[in-house]
Formats: sequence, structure tokens, C-alpha cells
Amino acid sequence: MTLPKTADIVIIGGGCMGASVAYHLAQRGAGKIVLLEREKFLGMGSTGRNAGGVRHQFSTEVNVRLSLFSLDVFARFEELFGVSAGYHPIGYLFLLTTPSEVAIFQANLAMQQRLGVTNARYLAPHEIASLVPHVNLDGVLGATFCPTDGLADPNSVTQGYASAARKLGAQIEMETLVTGIVTERGRVAAVETNRGSLATRVIVNCAGPWAAHIGAMAGLAIPIVPVRRQFFVTDALPQIPRAHPMTIEFATSLYFHPEGAGLLVGMANPREQPGDTYAIDEAFHWQTLERALYRLPLLEHARVARQIAGLYEVTPDAHPILAPARALEGFYIAAGFSGHGFQHAPATGQVMSELVLDGAARTIDVTMLDLERFAEGRLVREVNVV
Ligand SMILES: Cc1cc2nc3c(=O)[nH]c(=O)nc-3n(C[C@H](O)[C@H](O)[C@H](O)COP(=O)(O)OP(=O)(O)OC[C@H]3O[C@@H](n4cnc5c(N)ncnc54)[C@H](O)[C@@H]3O)c2cc1C
Repeated sequence: MTLPKTADIVIIGGGCMGASVAYHLAQRGAGKIVLLEREKFLGMGSTGRNAGGVRHQFSTEVNVRLSLFSLDVFARFEELFGVSAGYHPIGYLFLLTTPSEVAIFQANLAMQQRLGVTNARYLAPHEIASLVPHVNLDGVLGATFCPTDGLADPNSVTQGYASAARKLGAQIEMETLVTGIVTERGRVAAVETNRGSLATRVIVNCAGPWAAHIGAMAGLAIPIVPVRRQFFVTDALPQIPRAHPMTIEFATSLYFHPEGAGLLVGMANPREQPGDTYAIDEAFHWQTLERALYRLPLLEHARVARQIAGLYEVTPDAHPILAPARALEGFYIAAGFSGHGFQHAPATGQVMSELVLDGAARTIDVTMLDLERFAEGRLVREVNVV
């Protein structure tokens, strides 16, 4: 098969974002849409290495709005796309161990409830103990809990969007490495690949942790860096019910949730430097295991079955860039989700289709998520990063 010579819109990157953007543009009848992915399969980047958590509990209004839209889609995914998103509303439980965390999370709760997350609530220690009786609550002052947060399956969501996009006429070109971007008089003109050149006037950069490389090809500085995060999955742990909430010790970012018959356990290494290795940091694995055993002593009955490392796509304020680049007409960015992007894939496709086709996002106001905020000092910091 040869690569098409022209396209109305080229999407770079075949993760959950590229697939969702392709679907939403195709659904609007946006012309000839071509998605380019360098790997043999979709979802081989961060999408294929994530923990599957989906939540409403964020610290900024825009993230809560992106979640409200997206979790509603996950709940109805089978009805919409014929395949289940694997949405399991087991809830997210944030364990808080300092008075300042309690104050911040209570203020965030008020904001979340005002926006419509009405079932999110604060729990006192005795309520936490009855919800998660196996968890060691030493030093825990309180928690926030939202029962409609939970888990979903990134692979099913990506494939669901991709096959719906294909049915609507979008072309998905695998094993197609983008090597360059041609610009003419301040606007996008073509994409160069290992399979030839593709003329286009619109590019959507959905390259996840590699979005800055794609930006550099177009002469744009996009402040997104890849940062390794790792987790492990245990073999069976029948003592933990499958509906056990995703539990997070916010101060350390230790988190665990049911996965198959076992548990998925992760923690962020605050000393991790940017880089794009998938190698497991064994020393940090042991630190994670030690902390997990402290919070969940039952873990000593399970064995580590597998370890996985992936890349967060980190911006300076932990918010994505969902915007056109002002310096280059026709170049759009949907990247930099800073470790919580999968859950915002449905809303991202929706708002990017509006930005490209209507010139502004109508469904959710994302004007503050522009590229220029970094140079102009208008950062919108998300503190609730796991
Ligand atoms: C350990 C870990 C745990 C996570 N847990 C969660 C979670 O619980 N919940 C959540 O919502 N999010 C989570 N995330 C974050 C989430 O995985 C990402 O935000 C999301 O997958 C980003 O999707 P994407 O499509 O933008 O990027 P990706 O999935 O990385 O897709 C980008 C694609 O671009 C392709 N590409 C790059 N360069 C080129 C090129 N030159 N030419 C062609 N193709 C190219 C890549 O091959 C890749 O397939 C986690 C991430 C990690 C690493």
C-alpha cells in the first residue's frame, strides 16, 4: 500500500488521543483524515503502559470538566461504539496525612461538587476503615472518595475510536514514521515520512511523550518531556475484593487497585529525571514495595507477577496543551497530559475537532490550555497528580 499524497488533516500518533481525535474529526465530516503511527499496532506508547485509572477528582475546573465529559462517554462506550470501555466505577480514595492536604482536598471537593460531581465526599478515619478494612490507616487524617471514579481499559477505548474512525473513512497508516514537517509562509504544507511525503494544511500533534520532537520538526518549542513511571502487578490476592477502591496515599503518591486477580501497585519517583527509557529501576521498585507493604500488609501474601515502565508526558504545569500553535498556522497540539491523559481522551477528541473545524472549543472552555501560556507565564497548575 502506498501512502496517500494529500490529506485535509494529518494526525501524528496512534495512541488514545490520536484515535479519539481521528474519530471526532471524521464524525464531523472533516474531509480526508490520515493518522500516522510509527509502530505496527496502535497504543504502543503511553496508552499501552498505563494504569487505567479514571477520576473526577482534580484540582482545576478544566480537568474536572474534561473528566465529566469523558467518564460519561466511558460509561456509554458500548452503546456508542459497540465495544465496552471496561469502565468499573470502583471509586478513587485519596488518603490525606497532613492538615494542609485536608484543607486543599476539601476546597477541591467543593469545586468538584459545584461542577456536578455530586457524589464526591469527605470521609473521616472511621468511615475509611469500614470502606478499606485491610489498609493501614496510621497517620491518615481523612480522605476524599468519589464512587464514580474507577478504572477503564485504554486498549478497548483506543481500538473502539480507531475502528469507528475507519468506518467513517479515516485512514490509519501504521509503520509510518514522521521524519519532518514542511512549512510555507508561516503555515503547515506537508508531512515527511519514511514512506514519502503527504501534503496537508492541518496537522494535529498527538505524539504523547514525543510531542516535543514533532514540534521541533516544525520549528516550535513545545515544553513536554518524557518522564519514566513504573508499576507492578501481583499474582492473585483473593483477600482484596475486586471492587476495592483505587487507593492513593497522596503524600507519597503510592497507589494500588485491583487488576485481574491481583493488585496493580505504583508510586512516582520524585527524583526521576526526564528521559525515554522503559528499563525498570529496581531500587525504586523495592522502595515502592516497601511502602505498599506498610499501607497494605496483606501484600506479603502475593508475588510480583510483572513490572511495567512507561512515560508520562509532562508539562511545567501538569496540564495538557489543547490548542493551535499561534506561530504556525494549521499546526494543532493535543499532548502533555502529564500522567492522566487516558481518562481525558474522549473530551480531547471532542474539543480538538471543534478547535480545528470551528476555530474554538464550544463543549469545554480550553482557552487557558494554549501553548503560549508557558512563554507568557500563565501557568494553570494541577496539584492532584498521581
Ligand atoms: C505508568 C503510567 C501510568 C499511567 N496511568 C494513567 C492512569 O491511570 N490514568 C490515565 O488517565 N492516564 C494514565 N497515564 C497517562 C496516559 O497513559 C497518557 O496520558 C496517554 O496514554 C497519552 O496518550 P497519547 O495518545 O497522547 O500518547 P501515546 O499513547 O504515547 O501515543 C503517542 C503515539 O505517537 C507515536 N509517535 C511518536 N513519534 C512519532 C513519529 N515521529 N511518527 C509517527 N508516530 C509517532 C508513538 O509511537 C505513540 O504510539 C499513565 C502513564 C504511564 C506511563
